[in-house]
Order: sequence, then C-alpha cells, then structure tokens
Amino acid sequence: MKKVKKVKIKSKYYGILKVIGIILCLILGVFLFYVKQIHDLGKYGYSKEASKKILFSFKKSYVLTVGENKTLNRAFESSDYNEEYLDNYVKIDYVDHEHLIRNINKLLKIGYSNNDINIILKHGDDSAVERFAKREKIKYLEEFFNVDYAKLDNYDRYVKYADDTGEDEEDVVLFVNLDMDKGDYEDPKIVSKFSTDMLVNKHFALDDSFVPDDLVTIDEEYAADSDMQCSHIALNAFKEMSKAASSEGYEIVINSAYRSYQDQVELSDSYLHQYGQNYVDKYVAKPGFSEHQTGLAFDIGSRKTNVFAQSKEYNWMLDNSYKYGFILRFTKKDENITGFRNEPWHYRYVGKKVAKYIYDNNLTLEEYYVMFLDK
Ligand code: ZN
Repeated sequence: MKKVKKVKIKSKYYGILKVIGIILCLILGVFLFYVKQIHDLGKYGYSKEASKKILFSFKKSYVLTVGENKTLNRAFESSDYNEEYLDNYVKIDYVDHEHLIRNINKLLKIGYSNNDINIILKHGDDSAVERFAKREKIKYLEEFFNVDYAKLDNYDRYVKYADDTGEDEEDVVLFVNLDMDKGDYEDPKIVSKFSTDMLVNKHFALDDSFVPDDLVTIDEEYAADSDMQCSHIALNAFKEMSKAASSEGYEIVINSAYRSYQDQVELSDSYLHQYGQNYVDKYVAKPGFSEHQTGLAFDIGSRKTNVFAQSKEYNWMLDNSYKYGFILRFTKKDENITGFRNEPWHYRYVGKKVAKYIYDNNLTLEEYYVMFLDK
C-alpha cells in the first residue's frame, strides 16, 4: 500500500511539472514570436515603440505592405495616433517636428488634402504649423506656398500686399518677407550679430551700440583719407582686389568706409543744414540703417577721375569685384528691392561664395537673404 501511494504522489508532481513546462514553452514561444515580429518591423525602420503598437493594433501586415515610412513610424510612436488617418500618414512627407502627428490630424480635420499638408509642413517650423492649424482653411495655399521661401505666419500679409499692389506671388512673398509691406524705417528688425552676409537696409537696422567685430584702420595707400576704418576681413579682400586691379592698370581707392552710428547722425545733420529735409529723406540713410556701420561697405572711387560711374575702374569693378567677395549693392534695376537709389560707387563685402552666387544669379543681397539666410 505504502509503495503505491508514493508512485501516485510522484505521478501527480510529474503532471504539474508537465503543465508548467508546457506553459513555459508557450510563453517562450510567444516571446520568440514577438521578438521576431519586432525584428521584422525593425528591418523597415520601425522603432521598438512603434512596432509594439503596430502589433497590438494588428496593423503589421498593413505596415509591411507600406514598407519603410518615417511618418507612419512617428504616428505609431505618438500618443496622437488616430487610426482613421492611417492612409493619410503614409502619404505625408516626414518632417522632424515634435507635434507632427497632432498637427497633421488637425490639418486633416480642417479639410486640407495630403498634398496641401506636404506644402504646409515645408513652410514653417513646429510652432508655426501649430499656429497655422488653428486657423480656418485658407484660400490661396498653392498660390503663395509654391514659392519656396513663403512663410506660414506671413499668409495674411501676403494676401493684403497682393491686393494692395497687384504684384505676382513671387514678388509678394519676397517683399513681405523683407518687411517691405511696412513703411521705410518703421518697426525694423534689429540686427545685432556681425557677419559678412548680414543684411542692413531700411527694414533691418543696427542699434547705436553696434560696432563691427574686427574694426581696423585702413592703410593710407588704400584710402582717400587717413584714419578711415573698416572690418579687417573686408580690408584684406579689398587689398587683394586693389592689387589685381592695379596689375591690370586700374586704380581704385576707398572714399568712405566704416561710419559709426554717431558719424551717421552727424552726416545726416550736415546734409540737413546744406540741402534740407527732402534731400536727407531721399538720399541719406538714417542712423542705424546705413551699411557703412557694418564696416563691410566701401564707397569706391577711381584715382583717375572724380566721376566714378564714368571711369574705367567702374567697369572693371562691375566685372571683377565678385571674385574678391564684393557686390555692387544698389543697382538701378533693383531700387525697388534694396530701397536705395542707384549708387555706382557703393560696394559691399559679403564673402567670395555669396558674392559669386549673387553675381551669377543677378540677385540683390535682399533676395539672397530671403532665399538662404532667413531661417
Ligand atoms: Zn556708401
């Protein structure tokens, strides 16, 4: 009797162990299956976090048909994921915005198409898109936002400026981005960082404390007067240009270079006494709005004649100055963009790369700024 009982107990334990074993195997099996699924999705660039959500929402086969898709990955990662918009996520280009999925949801709800949203996402950062998604559906999306550098935040100004001026969309976007829908000197952007491609005009101003980083005195052989100053980097470029000009028989000289804020105040006052307010308003930049305060602008003359525009040096500069990093800043044809009348003598150092681009593409510094620097 005793013996039989032992066997019974043994077989009871054996049974329990067997069940535990089977459960463990099942758990292991499920685990390995799960790891394999995550691995499969990982091959297409889906993160672990996204993959988990894909599996638990039974969308794996859908995702595998789509293949690699960064927006879809972000959607599954996001707490804003909305299954209703699954097909839309797939067709919307990925941008690295924190609230990408939330903003896409909002824009879809307003009634924008996938293509509209692709356009919208290209024209603003996360917070600009967020602001844009709060407004009602706009009327002229493609008209303005097919221009590369159009900004979401400027939309209302584009519409108003287009109505007021009748300019085409490209010009409207350019002028508004340059704040030219505001009056001259009105509510200017304050530029405080010195850089060779900095923009200063009637809408981009320097404050009275701005002084170029690398101010030096110009060697007398290059300037019409002693004690003139300018930016060191611009001076080195001028020397190189002057030597090249000289070797070809052209003699250029600096007639005016750096002017401090205070210098511009005094200059303005002296013109006011001599010629009156109208003249000053028309021809003299207000203090803070003159490029000469950057130390990067030179009024250039010919050593051979007083009228620079009629000199051989003038023509040499037109053809060659860009090679040394200088651009003719205020041309006749671009008076409506630069806001300054044609000044054949006023050159601006912007660096060789920028100068070449501006020269090759027949641009102004304003256009270059809007296209590449206004981020
Ligand atoms: Zn000048």
